[in-house]
Amino acid sequence: MGDFLQSELEKAQQCLLETYELAESYGDNEEKDKSKYLQLMEQICQIRKDAIRNEDALKVAMEERTIADFESVFQGTIKRAEKNVQAKKTREYKAFSDRLEDISRSASGEILPSTTNKDGALIEMDMQVNINDPITKKRMIDPVKNINCGHIYERTSIQDAIQIKPKLRCPVAGCGNNQYINMAHLKSDNALKLHLQRIAKTQTTIWCTTLTV
Ligand SMILES: [Zn+2]
Repeated sequence: MGDFLQSELEKAQQCLLETYELAESYGDNEEKDKSKYLQLMEQICQIRKDAIRNEDALKVAMEERTIADFESVFQGTIKRAEKNVQAKKTREYKAFSDRLEDISRSASGEILPSTTNKDGALIEMDMQVNINDPITKKRMIDPVKNINCGHIYERTSIQDAIQIKPKLRCPVAGCGNNQYINMAHLKSDNALKLHLQRIAKTQTTIWCTTLTV
């Protein structure tokens, strides 16, 4: 396949992933719909397979001496190849679909970057933005996520803040979400909660070890 087409297809694919990543952080449910991205990726894979198929058929047909033979060999090769063209079965499609899963899981906090999994301290650094409540700046215990912008607050501190100021917008600096927060917008972030519990446990252990040394 031509290098130009190949690199254009790769660009399109990368673009799709980036769009999905943005949608996961800032988009609504419709924008987060993975099936749309998969459909587009299927088309990209189809174009790639078609291009490879045409190129192969062309190579075979080039051996023929007459235009009529060229034509029939070319069409015949394409037809035979058509039967096993299945974009969804390509390696690229599978890799893309795995990437989507990863992005979606890391956005929902179910997994942490794999390199930081073993080391509590590293995880903490990685998650620093998320583990402190933006209002009190204290480590959160019961985090809730604003479904409109994805920002996370400590449950009690956001509740208190709404009571003091009923027309409260997301208190995170630079947040583009202009809606007033109400409790219906807040969803428990159980994955982060678990993570916070794990950090607390690790730190207690370190603390106890230090004391007994
Ligand atoms: Zn926000």
